[in-house]
Amino acid sequence: MTETAVTSFDGLGLEPDLLQAIKEIGFEEPSPIQAESIPPLIEGYDVIGQAQTGTGKTAAFGLPMLQYLDPENDEVQAVVLTPTRELCIQVTQALRSYAEHLDIEIVAVFGGAPIKGQQAQLRAGAQVVVATVGRMMDLISRQSLVLTAARFVVLDEADEMLDLGFIEDVEKILRMCPSGRQTALFSATMPPPIKALAENYMYDPVTIKITPRKLTVDSVSQAYVEVPAKKKQEKLAEILKAERPEQAIIFCRTKIGASRLDRDLRNRGMSVKALHGDMSQGARDGVMISFKDGRVPLLVATDIAARGLDIEHVTHIINYDLPNSSETYVHRIGRTGRAGRTGRAITFATPDQIPDLKQIEKDAATTITAWETPEERIEHGRPPRRRERKGRKPASLDGDGVEDRDAEPVAEGNGAGPSDSGDGITKLYVNRGRKSGIGEDDLRWALNEGAVLSDDQIASIKVLDRFAFVEVASDAAEKTVERLDGSRLKGADIRVEVARR
Ligand code: ADP
Ligand code: MG
Repeated sequence: MTETAVTSFDGLGLEPDLLQAIKEIGFEEPSPIQAESIPPLIEGYDVIGQAQTGTGKTAAFGLPMLQYLDPENDEVQAVVLTPTRELCIQVTQALRSYAEHLDIEIVAVFGGAPIKGQQAQLRAGAQVVVATVGRMMDLISRQSLVLTAARFVVLDEADEMLDLGFIEDVEKILRMCPSGRQTALFSATMPPPIKALAENYMYDPVTIKITPRKLTVDSVSQAYVEVPAKKKQEKLAEILKAERPEQAIIFCRTKIGASRLDRDLRNRGMSVKALHGDMSQGARDGVMISFKDGRVPLLVATDIAARGLDIEHVTHIINYDLPNSSETYVHRIGRTGRAGRTGRAITFATPDQIPDLKQIEKDAATTITAWETPEERIEHGRPPRRRERKGRKPASLDGDGVEDRDAEPVAEGNGAGPSDSGDGITKLYVNRGRKSGIGEDDLRWALNEGAVLSDDQIASIKVLDRFAFVEVASDAAEKTVERLDGSRLKGADIRVEVARR
């Protein structure tokens, strides 16, 4: 639907009474699922809305539903089916708050509570019934509830209703509602039976799918350093010396911390600039420009100051202070490692912050291994036939994160591509060699760190004067070309392509 983010509830077509209630509740802007679902629902379309839990689906259907109702009509005009008693109560409360300035009766009916009281509430008049499936079936069979006027029907959290085995009953209920009804189906996921239900019981639905923003940390190699707070400055100096980043951003949590670190690095003779909220706009712009130009290799920054900073060309992100949330972590590092494809993130954690770091690793669905110097990384990245040098694996946080590579010979048989030599191996040509200062270890490093290949996926590396050949597992060949072609290695632009046989 709309490409640009809607930043206001005005303009979605909602009545003043509803806008007033939203304002009082404190919703400032519509969530994406709300911005996209509300207009078609108000226009009378059937809508299938798919969005993660917690994205505001209740108001997405609730607001148009309330707007549809005729306060003068005392029949049951709308029903909302929910999977559980808890959700039933929750949705009812939300709808009542949205209906604060409307004269609408909303009744909740759910199992596990005396049916008599609910029957009495229905008799007293309900224009909206929010129900669990079983209790609704029960009330219908007792003739306490008729759906002949229910022209707005919502299936909320449809995938959960499916999981709980309610789909047949949901279909029965839909068949009892008028055929000219408007139907809205909201769900976090769309398993096939739910799609089938939508096809059979909805009329020409508008489908809205809000996909969560993809975390792009995959192309960044990530390491952590466990270090006591007192030793952090010293450790940072050591890491900078070992990593020799072309450009790095060092993130601090506070302005004070950032200026302190800036001063310390300066005292150690490093070329560094700081970027934080206490600086004037002019001073900040100056720092930004000199950093973007590449004149300054190190930037110490706070999260807020670094907002809007183009960090695509940065080779290293160093989380000197552990980010305070997984989102911040992803935000800090997720933008590096794209242009140069050599992005590397190193995160400091004090011993008592290790659990927080584990949580980040889990949330970001990534692997953060213990930091090693580039030399050690190469050392541990020996090709299979040289493994007698005993490749100690860097420890993962979980201990089991790095599987035993010996156990999984990746380069065996699978994915014979067009250039596959028949043994599951594809030869790639690299347009640089010794004359460009590139050695075997540099290429291995690029394959490990840049293309994220394990050593078992690398069959051989042969460096000649003007070019090089690497042989990789065929099923990893495409990824290798994609990640390394056009990247930079030791200051040289490199081209990687499948070698002609
Ligand atoms: P879902 O059904 O998608 O899991 P909910 O409708 O239960 O999500 O909403 C999740 C939370 O977000 C609720 O606490 C709700 O009050 C809040 N919320 C919904 N819409 C907005 C909004 N536009 N602005 C701020 N908070 C919102
Ligand atoms: Mg919900």
